[in-house]
Amino acid sequence: MLRASFLYLSHRRILQRLVTRQRFTAALAYRFVAGDRLDDAVRVMKELNRRGWSGSLDHLGENVEQERTARAAVEDYVAALDRIAGEGLNANVSVKLTQLGLDISGDLCRELLSRVLQRAQQLNAFLRVDMEGSAYTERTIELVLDLHARYANVGTVLQSYLYRTMDDVRRLNAAGVRVRLVKGAYDEPASVAYPKKADVDRQFEAAMRELLTHGTYPAIATHDERLIEAARAFAGEQHIGNDRYEFQMLYGIRRDLQEGLVRAGYRVRIYVPYGTEWYPYLMRRLAERPANLLFFVRSLVRERRAA
Ligand SMILES: Cc1cc2nc3c(=O)[nH]c(=O)nc-3n(C[C@H](O)[C@H](O)[C@H](O)COP(=O)(O)OP(=O)(O)OC[C@H]3O[C@@H](n4cnc5c(N)ncnc54)[C@H](O)[C@@H]3O)c2cc1C
Repeated sequence: MLRASFLYLSHRRILQRLVTRQRFTAALAYRFVAGDRLDDAVRVMKELNRRGWSGSLDHLGENVEQERTARAAVEDYVAALDRIAGEGLNANVSVKLTQLGLDISGDLCRELLSRVLQRAQQLNAFLRVDMEGSAYTERTIELVLDLHARYANVGTVLQSYLYRTMDDVRRLNAAGVRVRLVKGAYDEPASVAYPKKADVDRQFEAAMRELLTHGTYPAIATHDERLIEAARAFAGEQHIGNDRYEFQMLYGIRRDLQEGLVRAGYRVRIYVPYGTEWYPYLMRRLAERPANLLFFVRSLVRERRAA
């Protein structure tokens, strides 16, 4: 119920304007977002690298309605790739197709994604296309498969809550496309996605096994300890070395798990969002765990009382 409410609010533009102006919600957002500027993200990434994690920079933005906003996103991503290369960071980038104009036109999006990929290729960098709501799934996979023939440095994401996902895993594995496996963060109807967590988790495990066995350097992206353990156990049984896959987690979530995995010798990449367009991202993080809001209010009250 709360999950659905936060996901519903994530699309409300009027609320976005109101909420992003509030100091309270901005403070909450910066638990999950590195800061407003690329400089902030670079600073965070340097620290993460120093402590043994790799990273992925996400310049926040999605569902853009203006062509010039989509074109500006290309410049932002090129700047991020240049900084990664210039500063020698152990990081790649994550991009949303609706940030590159997919809602405006497929051709525009293809042109803009190609431009970012070209720069990434010149710099020997990897670009991950994030997966958005199910209305975009097929178009995202088709575009990634198509561009992968020219840019081997592109990969994407599959969501275990979608019924279709095992077919997509096999399709992307066959093409040698790198996949990040997640549970899925959007509000989907029962006609396309499993409503029950147990089914989402079961399919996550099946997809994880298929990716570890037949995929190209898959990323197991979850904070679910049981699934992380299942991946470690399966990789161990199958003699799949720690250098053939990685775990991924979100900035600001389950730091204890992130640290434990690095200490145990696993590769862990942290997804680091930055920028001022954090509203929908924050709403999805609250939808995953509404208690985040409660914890935050409590800690704020405690701080105020102590002051
Ligand atoms: C690196 C990365 C990239 C992602 N990219 C995409 C993408 O492209 N498309 C997409 O749809 N989704 C993406 N997601 C989000 C994903 O779909 C899930 O919504 C999210 O990871 C929460 O699910 P979980 O696997 O952690 O499992 P859950 O069962 O939701 O959570 C397991 C445990 O993790 C902790 N946890 C999970 N979420 C939170 C939170 N918000 N705050 C605090 N604790 C939390 C809690 O301890 C919880 O018990 C990404 C996730 C990661 C880690």
